[in-house]
Amino acid sequence: MRAQLIDQLIAISGENNVLTQGDLSAYLQDWRKWWEGRAVAIVRPKTTQEVALIVKACAQENVTIVPQGGNTGLVGGSIPDSSGTQVVIQLGRMNSVVRIDKANMTVTVQAGCVLASLQQQAREAGFLFPLSLGAEGSCMIGGNLATNAGGTQVLRYGNTRDLCLGLEVVTPSGEVLNTLSGLRKDNTGYNLRDLFIGSEGTLGIITAATLKLYPLPAANATSWAAVPDVDKAVELLGLAQNRLGSSLTGFELMCASGLHMVTKHLQQLRVPFSDDLPPYSILLECSGSESADRTRSSLESLLEEALQRDLISNVVVAETFEQSKQLWSIREHIPLAQVHEGPNVKHDISLPISSIPEFLARSASALCAAIPGVRIVNFGHLGDGNLHYNVLGPEGEDAKRFLADHEDQVTEIVYRTVADFGGSFSAEHGVGAIKVHALETYKCPCALDLMRSIKKAIDPHNLMNPGRVLAATSARPIQVPDSR
Ligand code: FAD
Repeated sequence: MRAQLIDQLIAISGENNVLTQGDLSAYLQDWRKWWEGRAVAIVRPKTTQEVALIVKACAQENVTIVPQGGNTGLVGGSIPDSSGTQVVIQLGRMNSVVRIDKANMTVTVQAGCVLASLQQQAREAGFLFPLSLGAEGSCMIGGNLATNAGGTQVLRYGNTRDLCLGLEVVTPSGEVLNTLSGLRKDNTGYNLRDLFIGSEGTLGIITAATLKLYPLPAANATSWAAVPDVDKAVELLGLAQNRLGSSLTGFELMCASGLHMVTKHLQQLRVPFSDDLPPYSILLECSGSESADRTRSSLESLLEEALQRDLISNVVVAETFEQSKQLWSIREHIPLAQVHEGPNVKHDISLPISSIPEFLARSASALCAAIPGVRIVNFGHLGDGNLHYNVLGPEGEDAKRFLADHEDQVTEIVYRTVADFGGSFSAEHGVGAIKVHALETYKCPCALDLMRSIKKAIDPHNLMNPGRVLAATSARPIQVPDSR
């Protein structure tokens, strides 16, 4: 069966694009190198028609499929399980920008286009494609849609779902659904597009999308402010939204312990106020159609008001584009600084913004009561209510031992507290393979039932990424020994 299927795949996409041997770790191991799987083959199609033929060939043999983009996902959803019976369909050769419609302000793009390349081609045509995240040099637009990625511009432009007008999808039976027309209004029944966005490859394979473009901002201004506590940070956010309106494009929160790790491990980065780090720092950015002078002056008057109201205790404003990039770079390097510090228990959570101060107080007290000396690093997109909430063992304790002994306990405390405040255990990374149990525990049972019914209706034979998002009996990827 296996040899016959491989022959068919070769007939569809060519021998060079059906990979079965050699070093395939780029496709079989996840980005963090924590998990790995095995596969019958990795197929790299060039066209939607090839994808449809591959899906039909797999369906005929009852072989399950793992769609894959840039393989930067952080929840183990983009790699095959350990059974060695799955086929990975990697979209990287389908990387063209098909059409930019200037009057409609849309771009139609194949799913395998790398996000940074799409941003660049939009910019060259005089537009902004605002989706932006740390993995943009590798992640692909199909993967961004399949995970409904967030990133740093959600506050102003929304997440990937909000940027999408239409999709082309190969369904589990190998049919092609096309809603690429770029309509902003189309009230003709159920919204199928939104079913596939965020479905993490479990309902079909996204092969192309029509996405919104925006005018390029004329100018932007970036500042870094010291904040005494998280209540004041939330108050500052409200003030900034009120004073700057839609020109507020970034509002990132960083706690002192995360920035301390940056100063300790990445000394080339110069963290403002590092001699006496405040409890929290805020990276605040605004951009829009006004001139550079006016944009900066709006930011400065906001900051003056914030100083007068004691919301912030100190602030720097970037003088140049280069300085603005340096400030963003500090924010983006917190995860790397944590890698240097040692393994930690990671959470990507969201909460109503108004609940964040109380959530932080309650979760910290529950964690410290359960595991004395535990260290918490929280940072993230406060403007979207999204925190990366990471927990390390006490200073000096063996980090791997801490993980082995306490990972489940820590996550249980954090997720339960998140649930108490009506939050989500996965703000932007998705469910994948590693949060399936959390979905079963914390999702409303009615929503879970509807999700199972939708999966059954669209993919009755469970061919698309089984065991991801919703539980299945198939094997999980296996943890790479000694990987954390
Ligand atoms: P993959 O990792 O290849 O796949 C992810 C999931 O989508 C899998 O379940 C896969 O089966 C499915 N999939 C992929 N392509 C398709 C397709 N064409 N059709 C159907 N299903 C498909 N995420 C955020 O939201 N915000 C961030 O700020 C952010 N920052 C990150 C920073 C770093 C350094 C890294 C490594 C990751 C970050 N991520 C972030 C997570 C990740 O980059 C996103 O989830 C991204 O959208 C995944 O895109 P990808 O092409 O790599 O998809």
